[in-house]
Amino acid sequence: MAPTRSIILHGGAGSWRAYEVDEALRALRFAGELGLKVLEGNGSALDAVIEAVSFMEGSGIFNAGRGSCKDLSGNASLDAGIMWMGRAGAVAYVKATWNAIRLARIVMEHTPHVLMVGDGADELARSRGLPPLNLVSNGFGNDTVGAVALDMEGRLASAVSTGGIKNKMPGRVGDSPIPGAGFWASRLVASCATGYGEAIIMAQPCRIISIFYEERGLPLGESLVRAGEMVRGPCGLIALTIKDEAAAFTTAEVMPVVVARSSGIESFLVRRDEVKVI
Ligand code: ASP
Repeated sequence: MAPTRSIILHGGAGSWRAYEVDEALRALRFAGELGLKVLEGNGSALDAVIEAVSFMEGSGIFNAGRGSCKDLSGNASLDAGIMWMGRAGAVAYVKATWNAIRLARIVMEHTPHVLMVGDGADELARSRGLPPLNLVSNGFGNDTVGAVALDMEGRLASAVSTGGIKNKMPGRVGDSPIPGAGFWASRLVASCATGYGEAIIMAQPCRIISIFYEERGLPLGESLVRAGEMVRGPCGLIALTIKDEAAAFTTAEVMPVVVARSSGIESFLVRRDEVKVI
């Protein structure tokens, strides 16, 4: 059997209008194709999630990167996180670049730190030549993005990027850059979260998925449901295992999801309290 290469992506859990969801699914599908292309060229899971999430950040369609929502003072600040092979990098309150996920990777690979915020993160973005934050305003203001990939060497990576929540107080940071809350990747399973960040930070669902799946031996779908139900607010989760099982679950109204494998690309909407294992 040919080695597996897969990527699962979400476009945020929330309440979507029909025309927006179609647009989001199209963009997610394209991002999935980009990630899959990296994997099929024997690229790493890390490169695949970076390509997919960077595309979504740049598209302006989602609440991430160029499409980020604004805070109460009318400014955007971005959060992102990435994890693979036991290392993590994350950034919060970024205003200097739309490509927050690449900045998170720089933190992981080129600094001794895990999480950098504010002026220091902005300075790092500028010094590394990342593109400036030029917001597009298309009126969508949709949701956070995330991707989890498995490469042909059986390595898993997870990435998440967001503009946070609309009308947040200046300085607010959500779950997305917090390892274990917004994202997590172990050797056996990787996941990322979307939804109400304050509740997600307190419940740490991505870390919990790993504990349920790899330490307690629960099936992947059940691990997501139990972790998601521990979050005291709307939440969406996607995950991928080293055995190439993919799953998605949400307690929000709906979450657009794409799963891209060499055998084909599937796009669908996960509805409240529904778990999909693909
Ligand atoms: N979790 C993100 C945050 O609270 C928002 C989202 O997923 O839509 O910052």
